[in-house]
Amino acid sequence: MIKNTKTDLPQEELERAKKIILDLQAETALLTDKGYGPFLAAIYDDKGNLVAKRANSVAQEQCCLNHAEVNTIRQAHEKLKTYDLAPYNLSIYVTAEPCVMCMGAIMWSGIKRIFYGVNSSDVEAITGFDEGFKPGWFEAFAKRGIEVYGEIEPEAGKKVLKDYIAKGKEVYKPSCQRGK
Ligand SMILES: [Zn+2]
Repeated sequence: MIKNTKTDLPQEELERAKKIILDLQAETALLTDKGYGPFLAAIYDDKGNLVAKRANSVAQEQCCLNHAEVNTIRQAHEKLKTYDLAPYNLSIYVTAEPCVMCMGAIMWSGIKRIFYGVNSSDVEAITGFDEGFKPGWFEAFAKRGIEVYGEIEPEAGKKVLKDYIAKGKEVYKPSCQRGK
């Protein structure tokens, strides 16, 4: 059952979102073998054109800010040369639910719609990543006119995360949070 803040999304848009998320999951599986984290985001305009796409590069670039969503939003700002993405009517597609940092970044970016794959609770259960605290974020985003659609093709995303762990890849978190 797809979670959402708005129920009137046309079926064709939902089908398109499913395809994009599945493609992102497949690409994520390849990118993790190149040193990227197991998360990928893409931003599309309302005509279906790809504006930006980047993976999580926290471990690769040694920067805790470099989650897939933040990397992708930064790329969109650089490409469109504006801090306000709202006039472009953009959607962000992410392989997993945004963490507390990315939730904030999306809110400030002007992106209008979020589509994501795996729930944060499942990401945490499978991997041990800490996704932060996001009480009532669906409602908070709805109030700001940002639509959220979650749990899109979650099984494909869970498999990518399980494979990441099975391969013994890094679950990066600050040392003060390890060993809990
Ligand atoms: Zn994040």
